[in-house]
Parts: sequence; C-alpha cells; structure tokens
Amino acid sequence: MEKILNYINGELVAPTNGNYLDNYNPSNGEVYSLIPDSEKQDIDNAVVAAKEAFKGWSKTPKQKRSDILMKLADTIEKYSDELIKAESKDNGKPETLAAHVDIPRAPANIRFFAGAILHDSSEMHEMDGMAINYTLRQPIGVAACISPWNLPLYLLTWKIAPALAAGNTVVAKPSEVTPMTAYILSKICIEAGLPKGVLNIVHGLGSKTGDPLTTHPDTPIVSFTGGTVTGKHIATVTAPMFKKLSLELGGKNPNIIFSDADFDKSVSMAARAAFTNQGQICLCGSRLFVQEEIYDKFRDALVTKTSKLKLGDPKDTTSNLGAVVSKDHMEKILAKIELARTLGGNILIGGEREILEGELKDGYYVQPTIIEGLSSDCDINQEEIFGPVVSLIPFKTEEEVVEMANSTKYGLSASIFTENISKAHRVAANIDSGIVWINTWLLRDLRIPFGGMKHSGVGREGGFKSLQFFTEPKNVCVKI
Ligand code: NAD
Repeated sequence: MEKILNYINGELVAPTNGNYLDNYNPSNGEVYSLIPDSEKQDIDNAVVAAKEAFKGWSKTPKQKRSDILMKLADTIEKYSDELIKAESKDNGKPETLAAHVDIPRAPANIRFFAGAILHDSSEMHEMDGMAINYTLRQPIGVAACISPWNLPLYLLTWKIAPALAAGNTVVAKPSEVTPMTAYILSKICIEAGLPKGVLNIVHGLGSKTGDPLTTHPDTPIVSFTGGTVTGKHIATVTAPMFKKLSLELGGKNPNIIFSDADFDKSVSMAARAAFTNQGQICLCGSRLFVQEEIYDKFRDALVTKTSKLKLGDPKDTTSNLGAVVSKDHMEKILAKIELARTLGGNILIGGEREILEGELKDGYYVQPTIIEGLSSDCDINQEEIFGPVVSLIPFKTEEEVVEMANSTKYGLSASIFTENISKAHRVAANIDSGIVWINTWLLRDLRIPFGGMKHSGVGREGGFKSLQFFTEPKNVCVKI
C-alpha cells in the first residue's frame, strides 16, 4: 500500500516515529494509502529546515522568486490529470468538480501571487517638508499554514502561494483526512526545483502535528483555515506567543430570495449553493430564506431541481454529487438530519444515506436533503452541518429577513436575489458577513478581501491583503 511521506528540506522522508494512519477512499470506504502519523520531532525538523532556507529565500530578488513560483505553477498544471483523480479519490468529490474548481485553482493561486509581488507598492507619508516616512514590507520568517479537507489543494496553495511569494518559508500541515494532493505537490516541488526547505509539508493529526506547529517558538505567523472550534483553540494557544494569526473559519450562510428575483436563476443558484461539493464548502448557502409570496412555488421548483441531481460514482462524469469525506462526517450529517426530524422538520427530499451498488456499496453517500418547517433559531438553522443539507425558511419583510440572517454566531458569506437594485444594496449593507453576493454565488475574484466576521474568522485573505498579512510593516522616518 502506498505510503505518503513528509516533505522536509527538499526531501521525501518517513515520519521519525515510523507510524502511519489509514487513509480512506470515501467513494468505497476502503483504506487505500497510509499517512505519516507525525509528531513534534518532524515539525521541529521542518521548522529548522524552513528557518535555514529563510536566510536565502527572503533575500532572493522578487523577480527570481516570481520566476521560481511560475515554474512551480507550470509543473502543477503538467500533472493536472493525476491531481484531479487523486483529489476525487481522497475526498469523494466528483472528478468533474475537481477538474473545474479544485485543481485549476492551484496553479492560478500561485501565478496570482507570483505576479502580485512584482506589482506591489508601499506607503509614504510626507510631513510638510520636514520629513518623509516610508514603509518597508518585509517577510517575517517561517509561516505555519494549516488547511482543511474540503478543498484540499485549492486551500493549501491559497496559503502557501502568498507566504512564499512574500519571501517567507513555510511549514504546511494539510488535513489528515485528505493528504494525497499535498503529497503529490511535494514531488512536483522537487521536479520544479523549488529550493530546499522553502516549503515543507508535514502530515498528521491536528493534536499531534498541528499543535507543535502552531505553538513552535520559530513560527511567528499562523494561517489557519478550518472549523471554528479548532480556530478558537489555535487563537488561545498562539495569543500568549504574540503570533500573527489569520483565521478562516466556519459559516452558516444565508441565501435570501426576494419575490422579485429572477425565479429560474435563483432556483438554480440555490441548488448549486446548497449541494456543490456535497455541501462541504464554507460558503455554501445552507439557510435558504424565501419571501412568502413565492415560497410554495420556489420550494416545489427546488425539490424538482434537486430530484434531478445525480448522486453517484465520483468518477462518473454525469454525477453531480459524490461521497462526503469520511464515515465520521457522514454520521454527523445524518445525526443532524435526525435532529431536524425530532425538532419537527419536514424532510421534503433526501434525508438518508444512499447505498450505491457493487464496489461502491460501502461508500459515504448522503442524499441531497431539503428541510422545511424549522424556526430560524433552532440548532439546524444556527450550527454548521457542512453537508448536502439546506433548510428553507419563509419570510415576510426585508427587516425580518435581515434580522434572521444575522441571528447566527457566524458571518462568512451571504447571497441576495432580487431585481430591485436599491434593495439589493441596502440588504448587502445590513448583512453581517464578510462576503455578499448579489444575484450570484461563489463568483470569486482573487483580489477581493476574503474572510468572515464574528465566529467565521479574524482577518482577511486575498490580493494584497494576503501579502500584507505575510509581511511586517516597518516605518522608516527620514528627517529632511
Ligand atoms: P478542522 O478544524 O477539523 O481541521 C482543519 C485543519 O486543522 C486540519 O488540518 C486539522 O488537522 C488541523 N487541526 C485540528 N486540530 C488542530 C490543532 N489543535 N492545532 C493545529 N491544527 C489542528 O476543520 P475541517 O473539518 O478540516 O474543515 C471543515 C471546516 O473548515 C468547516 O467548519 C468549514 O466551514 C471550514 N472552512 C472554512 C473556510 C473559510 O475560508 N472560512 C474554508 C474551508 C473550510
């Protein structure tokens, strides 16, 4: 069985303790590879390598750093087919989704930041002829980059690209649930000639590998994407060490359909927002608020649309949904659906595990599920489920829907569907979330500030915001 290896100081190495964890293929429930069960010693080795590499990488001219990263992006693209298949096998998502979303974003992320460092500028503050202040933006050191399982290579590269482009070196810890594309990336880095120690990837569990990384005295920057509970833990342990911290956390995003919305477009978009990647995107619209006048018609159209979605083999190009990421996660989703029933929710469609035939019979498939009849303040409408489950909630007025939309502890994203432009802008301004889409969903521009309010995160990524996070501003005052 294939053994995944850590990538430390430019080499593929086994975990120092020699221990491995099982890696499952969610489409059939089988163990198909082994993941290093790394510990503090592996993290220490990776940080030493990254710290040493920082001396050269931070002084490498921007143009050269950019050229090296562009070559890395080209090499990733060369292995697109392998990466698409690997991401789908490791995560359970349809290959078509990996081909259209996950894998193309990896080289795109790297090219974006490799270009951005060549066009960046800094601030200057002039003091009425007395003095000038200019701000240097310098790389900080070894960045700890921790990423989740839902968009494995996409989110890993979204962190390491700005960190490396800005001149830091990186120790990354991908999710132990989906390590494969990060491992392939290690091999690609070697082929592309990334200097030794600039990027290090250590695999393992959050408690045994993540904790020693975030609390290491030589990782002054921590960039984390994952669940809110883990984010809280990381904030607690890193705060006394005064680390620079970016947190991209969970969401319970409202999708608001006004009665004057373009009906067909909003039904299609609501289905996409609920079920893409089996509902396992932090930006998924899992609370669907529909204005009373169109509620019945909208509900019926959404159920019809959902009934046409094909849940099946991730390798089949006609599958719209594949497997959810793990047995544990499937059980959590099913328990939430059961709770919805107990609370009096009406399951309009789905609501069960789907057992596929033949080799896929033990895979982790959950039917796309629509629930109605639950109050906005119940658990199902307040807590993240992170599965193919959407809850319909009717509303009467703009004021009422804004209040309900803002009633959770989260504040990541929101979508608003209306043909009334003034209302769209008004509601966008009143919604507590870091990202608002009007008449669309998940339309991403890599330059925008990306991140959440409240318990959805701290700080913003994207464009120059990422480069600012991964650099330290230093003001220099020159007396004239
Ligand atoms: P998770 O918090 O369980 O794990 C995320 C990563 O943190 C993994 O690599 C894990 O090993 C690591 N980790 C766990 N405990 C740790 C610890 N004590 N110290 C250091 N690292 C530790 O999240 P998940 O289940 O992998 O991902 C799903 C969550 O991620 C959802 O809540 C989703 O909303 C969120 N998410 C947010 C965004 C965003 O941009 N805001 C994007 C994607 C996913």
